[in-house]
Parts: sequence; structure tokens; C-alpha cells
Amino acid sequence: MPDNDAYSQFERSLSQLAELRDSVARQTDADFVFAAAQRLQLALARCYGGQRPRAATGHGARGRILNHFQEHLGEWITGEELAAVSGIGEWARRVRELRLEQGYRIDEQDRMYRLMAAEPDGAAARRWQKLSTIRRGDGTPKERVLALLSEPVGAVVLGSELSYVVGGRDASPLVRELRDDDGLPIDSAIDCRDLRGDAFRLLSVDPTDRRDEHQRLFPESVRAEVFSRDNYTCWRCRRERATALASGDRVFYVQIHHLHADADHLDRWPLAELLDPAALATYCRACLLDEHATARRARRRANPQATAEG
Ligand SMILES: [Zn+2]
Repeated sequence: MPDNDAYSQFERSLSQLAELRDSVARQTDADFVFAAAQRLQLALARCYGGQRPRAATGHGARGRILNHFQEHLGEWITGEELAAVSGIGEWARRVRELRLEQGYRIDEQDRMYRLMAAEPDGAAARRWQKLSTIRRGDGTPKERVLALLSEPVGAVVLGSELSYVVGGRDASPLVRELRDDDGLPIDSAIDCRDLRGDAFRLLSVDPTDRRDEHQRLFPESVRAEVFSRDNYTCWRCRRERATALASGDRVFYVQIHHLHADADHLDRWPLAELLDPAALATYCRACLLDEHATARRARRRANPQATAEG
């Protein structure tokens, strides 16, 4: 029973308190006094922390945690110690608030926490405000994902941030929807060597920069294989993102080009042939557009009748 457990801790702590009183009288070393007082504080918090009325704002506990961190700047502090200092069971949430909402740099490892700088990071706090505003906004989850990706267009957004604005669930299906169904050019670690893990980047909202609609036929695994095999470099112009942007391209992203299939009718190809990496090449947006236009002109010349059908 948790209650009995808490009560036995309380009793143990009482006897430690007696010991503490005696040791203070004997002027024992400071470490012992600190450890004993901390255990007592922790036991009291566990016994009574859940029963007392909540503070109106919750700032009290958070302030105590922050003070404790600042007094032990750069030192690892256990969760139990934070529970004792704050006197509340929800101390982990307060640590999260300090980190995310207020921008304090707090490392976490094996349930240990460490404040790395006494002052908060203003940029991190402003980022948090932005996420929080979008989360509270009244758009659909997909609209909120797009809102975050567009503020500003071209910025790297983390999967954890996208997840936050849609209320904690996995946002990657919504990102895929925006990319595959709506054609928005959104890079992930699959498309681009400078993005890592679950980072995303919306490159443009200009309708003329939309992806080729058939790109959705190529699953993530195939795209990953082809792009990394080709070093994220376009087969035709031999450029990759960094070189293209340096040479003045406004928008650069890679897509899959099928070497043999008619680009306008990719969906009519048997899947096994369509997805065979040996028939696929990495092309940049500009080169793919150009390649398709050239192929259409060639088909029209070869078969003028077909043009009438569209
Ligand atoms: Zn190219």
C-alpha cells in the first residue's frame, strides 16, 4: 500500500530527525546534515504532498526547483531531491516547464537533472511561445502542422515540436499528407543530408514549387534507398542542395525519376517494375520538370494524334 509505505518512511524520517538533532548538537559534517534533512523533506512531501491544497499558480514549487538548480549549477540532481525540494509529486512537469516554456537548459540522464546555465535562453522561450500559440489556435491538426512548418518557410522543425502542436500525437502522418496529397515540398532526413532524425523543412508555399504529383507512388523506403545511393545529387545537373543554393537556386529539392516509364502515367506501371531501384534516379525539381516537358514534346512529335486525347 502506498499509504503505509509513505507512513513508514515518515516514521523512519522522524528517527532520522532525532539523529539529525543530535548530530547538529555535536556539529557533525555538513554533508550528513544535508542528506538527513533532505530525506526528511522528501518523506514529508510524500506523506502530505498529495493531500495539501494546490498553490493557486504552481509558481511556488517551480520557483523552489529553479532556486535549487541555480544553487547547484552544473551539478547532477536526482528526481527525488527535486521532489523533496519542491514538495510536490508533479515536480517532473515543473522541470519540463522550466525547460520548454522558460527556456532553461536542463539536461536529463537516467532520472538525473542538471541546469547548464543560470539564465534562460531567450530564443528557446520565444520558440515555446510560438508552439504554444499554435497549439491553442483553432485550426485542424493538419492546419496547425502547416502553420508551424510555415513560421517561417525554410526553417527546420522537429517532430517533437509538431507533435506538441497537435496535442501530443505523432504528427508525421499529417506531414506526409501535406507532402504527398497537397504536393508541398517538405524535406525530411530522407531527402536531404543536412537534416537528421525526425526534422522537417517546408521549402516553399508557392504553388509553382509543388512536387510532381506522382512522387506519392514511391514509398519512403524506396526514396531513402535511391536518394542516399545517389548522394542526394541530381543525375542530370550533378548538383546537390548546398551547391544549388550557393549557385542561386531559390528552391532545390530532389525527387524520384523513373528512367523508362512515361512520367504522366506512372500509376499504370506494375508496382514491382515501378519500384525497382535500378530503374530509378535522383533528379532535382528543375531537372525533373524539364525532363518531363521534353518527354511530352517528343511524344507529341512521335504521335500527334495522342495530343488530342491530352
Ligand atoms: Zn538537376
